[in-house]
Amino acid sequence: MLDHNKVTEELIYLYALNSLAGDDLMEVQKHITMGCDICTQILKETEIVLNMLPYSLDDYRVSDNVRYELIEAVKKKLTT
Ligand SMILES: [Zn+2]
Repeated sequence: MLDHNKVTEELIYLYALNSLAGDDLMEVQKHITMGCDICTQILKETEIVLNMLPYSLDDYRVSDNVRYELIEAVKKKLTT
């Protein structure tokens, strides 16, 4: 029986991002397959957030004004 305390939220995030390998991956996979409610819930929520990320990026547009001011500010910094 795998100890829930060994599986941190961080490991679940990494698992959702497919960034785990080796022992960590095995341990988290086994733990979730065993049906830990807490970790399954964290995984579900993480996947929802990850699925929504591209949309939130689409919505993020810098206005021309802000872009202009940013460029001017950088120019000023470079010339001083
Ligand atoms: Zn767990």
